[in-house]
Amino acid sequence: MPAPRPNPHVAALRAYLPGEQPRGDGWVKLNTNEHPFPPSPRAVDAARALLAEGAARLRLYPPPDAAPLREAAARLHGHPAADIVAGNGSDDLLNLLIRAYAGPGRPVGMVDPSYSLYPVLAGAQDAPVIRVPFPPEGRLAPDALAGCGAAVFFLTNPNAPLGHAFPPSEVEAAAGRFPGLIVVDEAYGVFADADCARLPSRLPNVVVTRTLSKSHALAGLRAGYALCPPGVAEVLHRVRDSYNLDALAQAAAAAALDDREWLAEATARVRAGRARLADGLGALGWRVRPSQANFVLADPARRGMPASPDAAESAFAFLRSRRILVRRFPGHPLTAAGLRISVGNPAETEAFLAAAADWTAGRG
Ligand SMILES: *Cc1c(COP(=O)(O)O)cnc(C)c1O
Repeated sequence: MPAPRPNPHVAALRAYLPGEQPRGDGWVKLNTNEHPFPPSPRAVDAARALLAEGAARLRLYPPPDAAPLREAAARLHGHPAADIVAGNGSDDLLNLLIRAYAGPGRPVGMVDPSYSLYPVLAGAQDAPVIRVPFPPEGRLAPDALAGCGAAVFFLTNPNAPLGHAFPPSEVEAAAGRFPGLIVVDEAYGVFADADCARLPSRLPNVVVTRTLSKSHALAGLRAGYALCPPGVAEVLHRVRDSYNLDALAQAAAAAALDDREWLAEATARVRAGRARLADGLGALGWRVRPSQANFVLADPARRGMPASPDAAESAFAFLRSRRILVRRFPGHPLTAAGLRISVGNPAETEAFLAAAADWTAGRG
């Protein structure tokens, strides 16, 4: 018997391609923008305490509304807990937003290039995708999104993989003229000079999504949240799984959000690492894009091999042979000659820079 046929739009769908998660030790892993430092000890303690309560606790379902996590996010942002939705990572929230606001005849908009998961989530709901080119000068004009025709628009800010952040004033002006829902995907918001977390309380069509994966070093647990304007959270609850966050993730994430000192210190260290990475690559003659995130996009170049997709592939392969993983984005002209390098811990950054120097000098 032939394999059963899926829905036609699913038959045409191609799955998201995550960055490589290598097996075994000895890799310098700078390819998926995980946080380079351990999470807040208070987050780890909270998860441990829950496990210490043992089987009794794991026998029960977790709080369906993730109230402690939402209340911690409410304290952090001064946003009503009732207008915050928790997600199993922010990918879960992006999916819920598309499920609720997009579909056939209700397109999903995105900046090109940005996060390549959006088209996959849109495809799963049979929603068309509208791509708005990244503005060449990096300025979001007030009418940039106004007529694009999307029902829901995903604005990755800071942009991944470019690292550029539109200032909140530009986002606010563009949102004010956009007739649909704008989702500001702030996966990298804490690393930027400014963020849009206040906009959902001012504009009825702006949602801000956050993830603890990048900001709080908890990618392994899966926790994120959406700051919503009035009325949106209630819609998202209709389409989410009743128990979309497990008990461990809820406990650890709430404790992590309450540890503001950890966040301030860890974020400052990542930003310092970003400056070191950018300076080191600049000194090698690589073209480095200014970044407001926890990664930099840089175009490798060396004598006889100017910046190009071939140079990027050569550097990528060389680094991989040294067990250093970075990420390539060959599918877009703005990124095809680049490597996206996550900010590692100081030892990782120095190991990467040493290997990059070897490639640049034609050694090895
Ligand atoms: C990493 C990332 C996410 C997803 O984060 P999770 O919370 O781990 O699902 C969302 N958007 C962008 C732009 C990202 O880079």
